[in-house]
Amino acid sequence: MSELFDFTKEYEKELILDDEIIIPESIQTVRINAGKIPSGNRINVFAHVLRKNEAGPTMLILGGVHGNEINGIEIVRRSLEQNIYDNLKRGTVIVVPLLNVYGFINFSRYVSTDGKDVNRSFPGHLNGSLASRVARIITRKILPHVDFAIDFHTGGDTRYNFPQIRYAKKDVRAATLARFTGTKYMMEQPYIAHSFRKSASDVGIPALVFEGGESIRLDQLSIDTGLSVIQNVLKGLNMLDGEPQFKNQDQYLIHKSTWLRASTPGLFIWEKRSGDYVNRGDKLGEIKDPYGNRSDDVIAKYSGHIIGHNNGCVVSLGDALFHIGRDYTKL
Ligand SMILES: [Zn+2]
Repeated sequence: MSELFDFTKEYEKELILDDEIIIPESIQTVRINAGKIPSGNRINVFAHVLRKNEAGPTMLILGGVHGNEINGIEIVRRSLEQNIYDNLKRGTVIVVPLLNVYGFINFSRYVSTDGKDVNRSFPGHLNGSLASRVARIITRKILPHVDFAIDFHTGGDTRYNFPQIRYAKKDVRAATLARFTGTKYMMEQPYIAHSFRKSASDVGIPALVFEGGESIRLDQLSIDTGLSVIQNVLKGLNMLDGEPQFKNQDQYLIHKSTWLRASTPGLFIWEKRSGDYVNRGDKLGEIKDPYGNRSDDVIAKYSGHIIGHNNGCVVSLGDALFHIGRDYTKL
């Protein structure tokens, strides 16, 4: 095991999470108060914790930072349903399927009552907005126990992301962790201010972001990939038996990407989609006016891999159409 992956937190016999003592060798659910909605109903965040007697890293598996990004939530939920933590050899997993309950019940990315984005509200504040308080649950109650984290997301609105892993290039441990995942695409993405990933990095915790599919819609490829990401990383960290399994023949590390945007509004019909490789000048789709008079071709301005595309059928001028990884290395 590489020194890079020596866990840093002292592995004490007892783990206390939000005043609850975690008893080793069985999954325990901790309910963390996350405030109330205006009707007076209480909102809770649930953390499922499995702690083994044998010392090892503590991994946070997080979903639903954005409430409408259902693939991320479903991957984390299904990881529990499929009992993939049953054979954990050592260390601890903390599994939080849904952080932003407020967004989830309103089909929204944001905390619906204050319109704020949890992933722009880290590390959070006790007297801050609701989004800031939700972020603080992770920062104060969970991160102090954690060595590594994976944060599961889904493309915004109708923008479909081919299942991919993102991390900051300068975070060597996250980059090495990413190699375990086996996803077709990995993307170097600088830290976003006040995001979970940045906040984790500020306290020395490498975090990967998974992206897959589009909001409000389940996508089997993304769910399957996400589940293998969890298992592969746990295997890579020697928390599960076996070697990481790579389903993809080819893997690409994307260094730079650009969104190709609509140069005219109208009905958008794509012909190429996420996962395809395209050459500069290729026709990717068409935008048509609704009256049958006009059709404009959407042409690739760069050669590269389509790592995301818009499934929205009506687009405005400047809307994102294709996310093209144009500077990449085949691994
Ligand atoms: Zn997200």
